[in-house]
Amino acid sequence: MDVMKFGGTSVGSAQRIKNVALLAEKAGKNIVVLSAMSGTTNSLVEIAERICESDAGAALNIINELEGKYRKHIEELYSSEEYAGLALEYVSGTFDCLRAFTRKPIGPKEEKTILAQGELLSSHMMYWHILEQGKKASLIPALEFMRTDFNGEPDLDYIKLHIRPFINSSADADIIITQGYICRNFYDEIDNLQRGGSDYSATLIGAAVNAGEIQIWTDIDGMHNNDPRVVEGTVPVRHLHFDEAAELGFFGAKILHPTCILPAKAANIPVRLLSTIDPSAPGTLIDGFPDYGKIKAVAAKDNIVAINILSSRTQLPYGFMRKVYEIFESYQVGIDMQCSSETSISVAIGRNPHLDAIVRDLKSYGSVNVCEGMCIICVVGDMEWHNTGFESMAAKALEDIPVRMISYGGSRNNISFLIREEDRIRTLNALNKRLFQ
Ligand code: ADP
Ligand code: ASP
Ligand code: MG
Repeated sequence: MDVMKFGGTSVGSAQRIKNVALLAEKAGKNIVVLSAMSGTTNSLVEIAERICESDAGAALNIINELEGKYRKHIEELYSSEEYAGLALEYVSGTFDCLRAFTRKPIGPKEEKTILAQGELLSSHMMYWHILEQGKKASLIPALEFMRTDFNGEPDLDYIKLHIRPFINSSADADIIITQGYICRNFYDEIDNLQRGGSDYSATLIGAAVNAGEIQIWTDIDGMHNNDPRVVEGTVPVRHLHFDEAAELGFFGAKILHPTCILPAKAANIPVRLLSTIDPSAPGTLIDGFPDYGKIKAVAAKDNIVAINILSSRTQLPYGFMRKVYEIFESYQVGIDMQCSSETSISVAIGRNPHLDAIVRDLKSYGSVNVCEGMCIICVVGDMEWHNTGFESMAAKALEDIPVRMISYGGSRNNISFLIREEDRIRTLNALNKRLFQ
């Protein structure tokens, strides 16, 4: 059994839902993981924001507009009154609930419940469409088996144990459908795996059921060698090692959720990135086999803060390092990139609400300098240190761009540069020219 995940654009209209159903039916009995229809999660985020700002009127306008769209999708998707009726009843119920949320103040729990509606809507719409086609489908509820633990990390043992009965009871289904993105947390509240999290749902479910392959179907023919939104002439990379794909996802290649490769790598299940716009395109295969001597792709991660700590020299050098890293640990902040000398440490972290407190604590150990609005550019490929020339080629491309920090040698797959966010597009284009043309 494979896992097939379809992203927002792939289920973004009634016609696209029909196309996905055909693709999934042709592929045989698999688990189909669905995102919300494109634009829906953004609208739900806006609804929650307006309610939090006590602007019920603005929230209601977005709710009513979104409901209108779903009513249209239903008209186009179903040919029988029976299934259109089921879908209409479900959609009305969902939007009535959303309207009820506008009547009183909400907290994080209600916010997460609002965000969960997109995947619940798309999966129900697909389920009734497949049934209407005369196929046997089973809709299994992600909120009953997807779970995060005390640290907010996916609880794979729980997922394995709790998905099994649903798979067993779907024995005579032609297709098993479920929701991406949504889960319950340690406290049994509705939660999610962060924006873009349906990819993560797919790889977690793939690992939980020991799938043959995890397919991530999207609107592009695989991982490109650079960001196609800002660089012209990018081309698909046909093969990536798990580690290369993980670095690209983590460092901003939007096609992959930042941590979604980890469960697939741990279970050694190949991941294939495929396009619903061109289903016959080969896409990108991600597995455990390395390619040697190649630079594969470039990605960029925004919203980075650079922090430099210069030791006050009252600390021994080794004590200084430990104390600095303990401060980041105490705020549960992961470090994306770092460089150090005997007396100073530079780190790059994602934008963080605790930044002021972190800087205050760091000042106990030396002088601190902070640069916001930075961006990490990550060049991924076979960066094994004996290979000569790759790092200088990447550095040469950046000769006109101010570089705040360079990290090389931490992993055999990447070299990273910290630059100003405003230089991101020209840096990606300069690297494209030098590395791939
Ligand atoms: P989905 O809704 O299917 O999850 P996403 O929008 O999350 O799709 O991801 C697909 C998009 O990622 C593409 O349309 C493309 O614009 C963007 N993208 C950014 N970097 C890359 C890259 N290196 N290769 C392919 N796509 C990329
Ligand atoms: N619907 C969610 C989002 O837009 C999850 C996903 O699409 O992967 O972020
Ligand atoms: Mg996505």
